[in-house]
Amino acid sequence: MKYTIFSKGDQKSDSLAKKIRDYLDDFELVYDEEKPDLVVSVGGDGTLLSAFHRYCEQLSSVVFVGVHTGHLGFYADWMPDEIEKLVIAIAKTPYQVIEYPLCEVVVTFNSNREELRYLALNEATVKTLEGTFVIDLEIKGEHFERFRGDGLCISTPSGSTAYNKALGGAIIHPSLESIQISEMASINNRVFRTIGSPLILPKHHTCSLKPVNGPDFLLGIDHLNYTLKDVKELNFRVADEKIRFARFKPFPFWHRVRVSFIEE
Ligand code: NAP
Repeated sequence: MKYTIFSKGDQKSDSLAKKIRDYLDDFELVYDEEKPDLVVSVGGDGTLLSAFHRYCEQLSSVVFVGVHTGHLGFYADWMPDEIEKLVIAIAKTPYQVIEYPLCEVVVTFNSNREELRYLALNEATVKTLEGTFVIDLEIKGEHFERFRGDGLCISTPSGSTAYNKALGGAIIHPSLESIQISEMASINNRVFRTIGSPLILPKHHTCSLKPVNGPDFLLGIDHLNYTLKDVKELNFRVADEKIRFARFKPFPFWHRVRVSFIEE
């Protein structure tokens, strides 16, 4: 098996990454940054998000495993004092692969510019560069509402515990292939109205956003931000691709939620 290690880059993560690499080299596993079978992320969720985007084009052949040196580590199964166990598990144990859904974002432009496609592991967010964000929201090609507010967040099930949760969205089990639309400070009064609650769309439903006030947006894809100009439409759906995690020990989703948010 070929592996690589993706470190957060701080001293603690780098020295742990070196230790893991030394151990795995002892087992004669091949280090390969370009075409790994296994990516060991050492850090927090931010590190796992960066590792995901680094290997986003190779999702069908890559599995990820997270070692925790960050703050929360929702995606990380292993603690620093468990790395000997992890290394033996990687070298000797056939692991289970767990797949989590992703969100596909396709942006089309008014000009002849080619459409852009992104994959989000946590969420996509859309905001305006200035002024109130006003957008027409369509679900399955049918007008749903004209949204006014700060922006919208379209999250994956595993991202539902991140920004989405802070916006009052529901926590969704990743076995439910879905995307969730949550509002950022919608304007709701006698004149303007939005649904006001998060919407959860199944795999075969799409969501489109069409500009009303102006065609320039700030698109967030996980920790990455893009300024998009002259946008015609933004389309969101559950992606065909999935992220694959190597599971060497059971770590059920609801247990993960409890230890991340209620008590360790
Ligand atoms: P960051 O400030 O490092 O991340 C914010 C926090 O979100 C960190 O504690 C991170 O955990 C945690 N986190 C990330 N993914 C998570 C998940 N799936 N479930 C639960 N917690 C999760 O920022 P960053 O490195 O640029 O990460 C970008 C992410 O931050 C975005 O995808 C977004 O979801 C999140 N975010 C949250 C808010 C909010 O809650 N109000 C606002 C903006 C962005 P670690 O400490 O382990 O890295």
